[in-house]
Amino acid sequence: MATYEELFENNRRWIEQKTGTNKDFFLELAKDQNPDYLYIGCSDSRVTAEEVMGLGPGEVFVHRNVGNLVNNVDLNVMSVINYAIRHLNVKHIIVCGHYECGGVKAAMVSKDLGLLNPWLRNIRDVYRLHKAELNAIADERQRYDRLVELNVQEQCTNIIKTAALQLTYAAEGHPAVHGWVFDIKSGRIIDLHIDHERILRDIKDIYNLTGS
Ligand code: ZN
Repeated sequence: MATYEELFENNRRWIEQKTGTNKDFFLELAKDQNPDYLYIGCSDSRVTAEEVMGLGPGEVFVHRNVGNLVNNVDLNVMSVINYAIRHLNVKHIIVCGHYECGGVKAAMVSKDLGLLNPWLRNIRDVYRLHKAELNAIADERQRYDRLVELNVQEQCTNIIKTAALQLTYAAEGHPAVHGWVFDIKSGRIIDLHIDHERILRDIKDIYNLTGS
């Protein structure tokens, strides 16, 4: 583990490396950002955003919170989504959960976790929506893994419920919403193949905000 002082040394080396291959790297970076991707992931220190996707500065707009949640009254995540769609014009939105998620496990513990209660309640709601499927899984680890996947699916649905997504998608055919799980034990990204179009159709009678 790096010491606090080493972080600055690391930064100095990183600048050298970037300017070594392109001396104008930071001049170009300072001009503007035009990322194609919005990534919404868990705050877990083991699940980085850019690194696992092999992307560099300027390539992905990032939001992370405990449990990779998209809550419709969370001004933070809603501002990120609105800005990414309406101003950055991202082409893809990725919600990335991960197995062994402490947030997902904590959500199912039967005790008072203070301020975390209302936040993690969103995950209990996912469990309630998919209770029959989850309760049918006997193995506890497999049940948690499936809850991680279903949580990602529900957060993708929450993005599709927004006016920004619906209106921009109707007008421009993007962004596409994708659900991923990062498998911590192998480092592999698993695409859950969320059916964006089907979800959009399914929720239309209740959540349509396009005025048509
Ligand atoms: Zn997590």
